[in-house]
Amino acid sequence: MKALEEKILKEGKILPGNVLKVGSFLNQQMDSDFIMEIGREIARLFAGEKITKVVTVESSGIALAVAAGIALHVPSVFAKKHKSANMSKEVYTASVYSYTHGETYEIAVAKEYLSSRDRVLIVDDFLANGNAVKGLMRITEEAGATLAGCAIAIEKGFQGAGDELRAKGIRIESLALIDSMTESGVTFRA
Ligand code: 5GP
Repeated sequence: MKALEEKILKEGKILPGNVLKVGSFLNQQMDSDFIMEIGREIARLFAGEKITKVVTVESSGIALAVAAGIALHVPSVFAKKHKSANMSKEVYTASVYSYTHGETYEIAVAKEYLSSRDRVLIVDDFLANGNAVKGLMRITEEAGATLAGCAIAIEKGFQGAGDELRAKGIRIESLALIDSMTESGVTFRA
């Protein structure tokens, strides 16, 4: 998605540890029109896949999952990272190692929101080492739901997880795929 590549080049900041900061339009501050445009692009890519639920993990995937859900006219569900008092005890869980925070946490989705009748589209803002997506895939599997594929805004291709999952036959669609990222700039896969 050319517009996303342009936005990364214009507004993205490369931080130590191979972290790309996109707080001005995707993470902390969200560019509303642009988020909806991403949602429509994801819906276009997965049209015909009979998606019934868009699934993500809080918090940075939520805006994109909602935008994709709106464009596909299906609900979006996010996995919670923290147990809350009003959360059902009937949950699907997976443990996920966070690349950006350097810790392992549990993610959970209430069983009432995902079932074997669902065709799931996993959405996230970044694909780096693949831990978040793999956690969501385990939850999808636990629910007996069918995984239609994953839509990612920004894949850091040099971290390998996207290609590893593609090699397993999983459909991974990344709207911007970064091949290399150094202080002197970002290179996208052609
Ligand atoms: P993974 O589990 O694939 O290693 O990392 C995915 C998660 O880590 C995403 O949900 C995202 O929130 C966060 N993440 C990974 N790399 C980056 C990055 O370069 N920039 C930002 N802003 N978040 C990242």
